[in-house]
Amino acid sequence: MSPRRSLVFSLICAVLVLPGLTGCDTNPPDESAGSTPSEGTSNSTDTEPSTDSESSTGSEASPDADGQKIPTTEPAVDLSGRTVAIDPGHNGGNASHPSEIASPVPDGRGGTKACNTTGTATSTDYPEADFNWAVAQQLKQELKDAGAKVVMSRDDNDGVGPCVDERGTFADDADLMVSIHANGTETASTKGFHVIVAKPGSSDAVEDDSNRLADSMSEAMSGPFTPNSAYGKDAISRRPDLAGLNNASVPAVIVECGEMRNADEAKTMESKSGQKKYANALLQGIVDWY
Ligand SMILES: [Zn+2]
Repeated sequence: MSPRRSLVFSLICAVLVLPGLTGCDTNPPDESAGSTPSEGTSNSTDTEPSTDSESSTGSEASPDADGQKIPTTEPAVDLSGRTVAIDPGHNGGNASHPSEIASPVPDGRGGTKACNTTGTATSTDYPEADFNWAVAQQLKQELKDAGAKVVMSRDDNDGVGPCVDERGTFADDADLMVSIHANGTETASTKGFHVIVAKPGSSDAVEDDSNRLADSMSEAMSGPFTPNSAYGKDAISRRPDLAGLNNASVPAVIVECGEMRNADEAKTMESKSGQKKYANALLQGIVDWY
């Protein structure tokens, strides 16, 4: 971990620990992640004892010595004046509206693409849309606590869409856009996150900053999670066909947080503590990008 990342991590931990939370292990995300591919997954269960209880109690159960709640907005990470766009991929109502989500929309490269898809699920049918939504809500709160303005591509998890073209343009007034997804590779042994960035970008400036965002996200995710080896050492995939990225006018990436058919990663994704861990990593990627 670089000194800067270490500092940022410590600052984020400071925010989380202040209200009495115990989740930021002083043993921070696996400096050795690269050499121990099981990290971020096998340790998602009970070997991480503090995290589950922390998320259920939260700051509400953590008064300070004077009996007053310590605000979670302690400005350890200051993102005031920043605007971050979050796109929780898919939507909970997509599956029951097949014709709506099949309708063609501009793909940002002169063609069309289906409005949206249902997303994937774990082998126990925990839907990707639910995971994306949970991580997005956690990330949104952390960003707001740090003073950032947050814009979301959708306001609930039981609706339909929006379509993929709008999942780029909703971010027009933000500094950057992060789209949260999880992957559904059929082979259950496949594991790890990967980051997707548009290729080519919509303009040189945005392309450079999008690539920088992809690097930043990959590095931040590589701490606690395993990079998916199918996408090279940095786990970054460059694709021309994703309409959300193509239609974004600001630096944008999709983060495929992990593989939902992998039992270890599914367990992490379904847990509150795991979702928080994903959100923390995404926050760090955003902070580092700035
Ligand atoms: Zn997805």
